[in-house]
Amino acid sequence: MTSGLAALEARLADELEFLQLPAPRWTPALRHDGEPVADVAIVGAGMTGLALAAALVHRGVAVSAYDEAAAGFEGPWATTARMETLRSPKHLAGPALGIPSLTFRAWFEAQFGRDEWDALDKIPRLQWMDYLRWYREVLALPVRNGHRVSDVQPRGDGLVELAVEADGRTTRAWARRVVIATGRAGLGGPSLPAFAEGLPRTRWAHSSDDNDYAALAGLRVGVVGAGASAMDSAATALEAGAAQVHLLVRRSDLPRINKGKGAGNPGFVAGYAHLADAWKWRIRHYINTQQVPPPRNSTQRVSRHANAHFHFGVAIESVNEREGALQVRTSAGPIELDFVIFATGFKVDWRQRPMLRRIAPCIRVWKDRYAPPAGEEDAELAESPDLGAAFEFQGRAGADCPGLERIHCLSYPATLSLGVITGDIPAISEGALQLADKLAGLLYGEDIEHHFARMEAYAEPEIFGDEWVAEPLPPPASPT
Ligand SMILES: Cc1cc2nc3c(=O)[nH]c(=O)nc-3n(C[C@H](O)[C@H](O)[C@H](O)COP(=O)(O)OP(=O)(O)OC[C@H]3O[C@@H](n4cnc5c(N)ncnc54)[C@H](O)[C@@H]3O)c2cc1C
Repeated sequence: MTSGLAALEARLADELEFLQLPAPRWTPALRHDGEPVADVAIVGAGMTGLALAAALVHRGVAVSAYDEAAAGFEGPWATTARMETLRSPKHLAGPALGIPSLTFRAWFEAQFGRDEWDALDKIPRLQWMDYLRWYREVLALPVRNGHRVSDVQPRGDGLVELAVEADGRTTRAWARRVVIATGRAGLGGPSLPAFAEGLPRTRWAHSSDDNDYAALAGLRVGVVGAGASAMDSAATALEAGAAQVHLLVRRSDLPRINKGKGAGNPGFVAGYAHLADAWKWRIRHYINTQQVPPPRNSTQRVSRHANAHFHFGVAIESVNEREGALQVRTSAGPIELDFVIFATGFKVDWRQRPMLRRIAPCIRVWKDRYAPPAGEEDAELAESPDLGAAFEFQGRAGADCPGLERIHCLSYPATLSLGVITGDIPAISEGALQLADKLAGLLYGEDIEHHFARMEAYAEPEIFGDEWVAEPLPPPASPT
C-alpha cells in the first residue's frame, strides 16, 4: 500500500508546521547598489548546497543559491557518475535535517510501498537524483540554475561581491556571507599524474570527465586506480564494448576494509572538529593510507566481463603515443593501450577554481601551520584549508584579504578541519545544521544594535491593564 507523494507532501507540511519551520525572516533587508543583499549566498546547489539552503531558510535567513548546472542536473549523480547504485546504505537519513518526511525512505515508500523498500538493496544512482529534485521542489528552495559564480571578492565593508554569469551576461551580486559548496573537487579538480600533461587529450580522460564511452568500443583501455570510480569507469567502458580493459593498480592488492565507515558514530560526527590537530591529522592520514575499497557490486560489475583484467603491483613510469597507440612503461613491464582513464581522485588546486583566484593566495592551509610527525606526511592533507569554527577560511600570516572570514567552506576539502560533515550522505545534515546555526549566530551578533533597537521598539502588549483592579494596601492591623 503506498500513500503517494501528495500524501507525503501533506505530512511533510504538517511536520514543518508542528516544528514552526520555516521561521519568519528576522535579519534586516539590506540593499547595495539598489540590489537586495542576500544574508548568505551559496555557490553550488548539489546535495550539500540544498541541505544548507534548507537549514538556513528554516532559520529565517535570506539565501541565494547558485548552480552552473541545469536544474535537476546538479552534482555527479545524473552527469558524470557511472555507478549503478550508491555506495551508501539505503537507511541513511542523508540531507533530511532530522525531519522524517524529508528522508529518501519516506519519498521511496510513498511511491513504491514498504515491500519494495524491504526488497531494495542499494539506492539506484538516478533515483537518488530524483529524490534530490523532489527535496528542492517540495521545500521551494531559492536556487538559480544556469548561474555560474566566476568571482568571489570579499570586501572590507561587511559584504562579499560575486560575479555571476548567466545567459551570456555577467552581473554582480552581494551577500553578507558566502558558502563554497562545490563538492568533492570543490577547491580544485582532478588529481592527475604528471605524464598526463604530455598526452594528446584524445587519448585520455579523468573518471570525472564527461567522457564519451561509446567511442571506446573496440579499443584497449587502461584504467589507472582501484577505487570506486575506477570500477565504474572500467565497467562503463566494458559495457560500451571496449575490446579489453586493464585495471592498472599500483598496490599489490585491493583495500578490503572501509575504515571511515567503521569510524562513523555520533561522537565522531560531533566531536571531530574539537579534536587536537594531531588527532585530526592522524585519523585522516590513517583513512587515506588504508584507502577505501571499491564497492563489491561495482567490482563484480567489472569482473563479470572476460575481457576485464586486474593487474596489481603496476606503477606507471611513462606513457608515450607511438605507432598509433599508447606505449605504457610500468614497473611490471610494458603494455600497449589505445586510451587511458585516470581514476585518480581529486586535489586542492586553486588554479582549477578561477572563481577563488582573489582569495586563494590569502587562504591558510594546514601546511602553513601544522607539521605532521615523521611518517605521517600527506600531501593531500597538507593542502587542505585550515578552517575556523564557523567553517570560515582563515588568512595566512601577512595575508591582506579583509573580509576573508565571510567566506565559508562546506565541501570535501574541509574534512580535515571539520570531519565527515562536509559533503557525504551519512552526516550532511549535521554539517548543514551546524553551519546554518553558526551563520545565523554571526548574522545576529553583527547586527546586535539593530536587534537591540528592535527589542526596545517592540510594543506588543500581552496584557492590557484591564485584567486587574489596583487597590491601596490594606490598613495595618490594629495591635491587640
Ligand atoms: C561518482 C561519485 C559517487 C559518489 N557516491 C557517493 C555515495 O554513494 N555516498 C556518499 O555518501 N557519497 C558519495 N559521493 C560523495 C558525495 O556525496 C558527492 O560528491 C556529492 O555530490 C556531494 O554533494 P555536494 O553538494 O557537496 O557536491 P556536488 O553534488 O558535486 O555539487 C556541487 C555543485 O556545485 C556546482 N558548482 C561548482 N562550481 C560552481 C560555480 N563556480 N558556480 C556555480 N555552481 C558551481 C556544480 O555545478 C555542482 O552542482 C560520491 C561522489 C562521486 C563523485
